[in-house]
Amino acid sequence: MLVSMNVASISRKTKIVVTIGPASADRETVRRLLVAGMNVARINTSHADQQEIGALITTLRAVAKEEDYLLGILLDLSGPKIRVDNIPAEGRKLTTGDQFILGHGDLVDIAVRPDVEFKGVEEHARVMLDDGRLELQVLERLSSSALRVEVVYGGLLEANKGVNFPGIALGVPSLTAKDEANLRFGLAQGIDWVALSFVRSPEDRQALDKIFDEEGIRVPVMAKIEKPEAVARLDEIIEVFDGIMVARGDLGVEMPLDEVPLIQKRIILQCNTAGKPVVTATQLLDSMVTAPTPTRAEVNDVANAIIDGTDALMLSNETAVGSYPVKAVETLHSIACTIERATVGDQAKRRSGDYKHTLSTSISHAACTVADDIGVSVIVTMTHSGVTTRGVSRFRPKSTIVALSPNVSTCQQLQLSWGVIPLSVEEYPNTDEMITHAERIILDKGFITPGSYFVFTAGVPIGRSGTTNLLKVQQAGSA
Ligand code: PGA
Ligand code: MN
Repeated sequence: MLVSMNVASISRKTKIVVTIGPASADRETVRRLLVAGMNVARINTSHADQQEIGALITTLRAVAKEEDYLLGILLDLSGPKIRVDNIPAEGRKLTTGDQFILGHGDLVDIAVRPDVEFKGVEEHARVMLDDGRLELQVLERLSSSALRVEVVYGGLLEANKGVNFPGIALGVPSLTAKDEANLRFGLAQGIDWVALSFVRSPEDRQALDKIFDEEGIRVPVMAKIEKPEAVARLDEIIEVFDGIMVARGDLGVEMPLDEVPLIQKRIILQCNTAGKPVVTATQLLDSMVTAPTPTRAEVNDVANAIIDGTDALMLSNETAVGSYPVKAVETLHSIACTIERATVGDQAKRRSGDYKHTLSTSISHAACTVADDIGVSVIVTMTHSGVTTRGVSRFRPKSTIVALSPNVSTCQQLQLSWGVIPLSVEEYPNTDEMITHAERIILDKGFITPGSYFVFTAGVPIGRSGTTNLLKVQQAGSA
């Protein structure tokens, strides 16, 4: 018997992040999303107040417990993201050629957050709404808080949609008071990951670290790459953050859209090389917001992100507000399974690429080489912090990577890492017991059969995180 037999994700390497929204926040849909293959649930704080965030976390945890699944929860902070604030729920139609006042304060037709300053905005500047679906042009800057604009490409502007000023620095803070409150609240509720929108520099992380220190709780932080400033400082940002999101929605309006495919490939490659999890996000199956099947182009896009080496795929509108949230997850799941069957060996070839040679990386590398060379189906990683497991995941072995951790939040964090199946275990006192215990668990859970070999890797002494220094090949049932 495999762990959580009723959960599809057990057979897949690429992880699925599902944005929860009005179309998916009820208990039954959450359960179906989980069964269909959701590994991580994303809560977008732009669209929910604290009470809703709290209720959602409670639902997610309750359903995951019922299904015996260590679901990861990612809290996405809006940071400097600008949205329309005063559009009614039914939306507002913008007709090409119409003129409006955009800004904040009195006399404004389309309102945005009050901390936006239009000092750097010039005549003819473009303003993009809803990831570029609608476009405005600036006719005149009336003040630092108001612009007269004309609709260039009209359409229905829905409530809360994003507003971008490509190429213009608006001097908004990287973390707002609302973000800060949401983060403190989320930490108290036991979130596993936090994502920061519109990261512009590696220093943007500092404000979050300060809050972690004050709260005495630390979770990994994902930088959303959606500004040219971030693309320009990618190396440093990957170094400082724990994970990266290729946030194509905003990236595709902040930068020329035709540059996004190359940027995506570069981000994925650099994250693979650095051993940091990378999420490919936005419009993966956009047509499934309204249709039960994806387009050929979407299937190709998803397949290529997998082939490029993304750790995870993320659904946004498809699951948050779409008509077919469960089908969207099933679609990603089946594309991933098909593509992985054909390419998982190629993924492993990446491991010969350049990575920093340390004791830890060479042990992890060797674990994958041994496992693939002798055809071992499971690599067991024993981990407190997750470092040992991510160290193996980065080398993309064909074998299933089982992560055993006494730390439940580590297990949940690892749901974002390629090929990892986390299991929570009890703390044990010494190395020998640890291996025997691991063997019993993977036999019990059906990952291996008696007599077969598995690879075991860990850092000893137990409980001191930092170095992966132990590699053992063991035959199950031989002790
Ligand atoms: P968002 O981020 O959905 O919070 O805007 C993802 C993206 O921009 O692609
Ligand atoms: Mn975005």
